Amino acid sequence: MDDLDTIDLRSDTVTKPTAGMMEAMLSADVGDDVYHEDPTVNALQDFVADFFGAEQGLYFPTGSMANQAAIKLHTQPGEQLIAHEWSHVYNYEGGGVSFNSGVSCKLLSGDRGMLKADQIAAAVNPPDFYHSPLTTLVCVENTTNKGGGACYALEDLRAIGAECHNYGLKYHLDGARLWNALVSQNQNPKEYGGLFDTISVCLSKGLGAPMGTVLVGKSQVIQRAMRVRKVLGGGMRQVGYMAAAGLYGIQHQLERLSKDHIKAQDLAKTLATLDYVQKVEPTQTNIVIFYLKPEVAQERFLEFLDQNKVRISAMGQGKWRMVTHLDYTGQQHQRMLSLLKNFSIA
Ligand SMILES: *Cc1c(COP(=O)(O)O)cnc(C)c1O
Repeated sequence: MDDLDTIDLRSDTVTKPTAGMMEAMLSADVGDDVYHEDPTVNALQDFVADFFGAEQGLYFPTGSMANQAAIKLHTQPGEQLIAHEWSHVYNYEGGGVSFNSGVSCKLLSGDRGMLKADQIAAAVNPPDFYHSPLTTLVCVENTTNKGGGACYALEDLRAIGAECHNYGLKYHLDGARLWNALVSQNQNPKEYGGLFDTISVCLSKGLGAPMGTVLVGKSQVIQRAMRVRKVLGGGMRQVGYMAAAGLYGIQHQLERLSKDHIKAQDLAKTLATLDYVQKVEPTQTNIVIFYLKPEVAQERFLEFLDQNKVRISAMGQGKWRMVTHLDYTGQQHQRMLSLLKNFSIA
């Protein structure tokens, strides 16, 4: 990639398969996965389940479908789930919570997209008060997306889990970027399996695969998930070509996430020194959220980025987001750091 290439920091989903990943895809052994006969899909599912210390895994085309299936598995129509007001399941899955499961959301606020255990008790509707929806599920996100890639401490996740246990609630982790949390916090993935009823992990974000998410949990739950996936239209055939990309991503492109984290840190540190930047959110993984000063014309900033072939996400009200990834090279990074310093407030 030469210097004139566009720098695309809108998301870590914009990556293309690496040469090694492409090779793994092309040489994948495949079969009809609706008959459970795709050896590569089976290998991926087993690998991910084992990786997280869970019993079984199921491959989904997207993270949204896996989350939606999990919500369907853990609830009945009319019930209520608890989630952060910024959560992906509530904001970015097309209203699927109500469309697919007939469930409402009790939304809580909290630092950078994270919930705390002491919020749960007050959010649970009393089960014998039949006027209110029955609360049956808590969904958390790690890392948080809209919260800027923030990571939960394991003890906080455990404390929320204990509350779920107290109130008989199911506990789902939207772990689209759980890989980033593991690498950044140096956590043992096996700690996660026993903590949640289900966990979804994306292969198409930092790990760089073109598609795919694995949902893991107890065998009893995952067996039921197969039917829900089918209902949602997610039964696929020779999808081992794609599963091979996911498996390759975990085995060869997981540790390198730390490089994305370092680049994000660099960007955050540079932004914090600039006179046109109001505030930079704490940056723990690969997402950098920052705010322009109110006197800076947003259009001017956008135009400046445009002219320099840089794409980032405008989140409204002066809030901006950059996400580092596999295809954001060292050279692009150097160019990006100097570009940011070149923009002037006037
Ligand atoms: C990306 C993402 C998902 C899944 O999104 P898809 O586009 O459906 O793969 C789910 N949750 C979070 C927090 C995400 O960032």
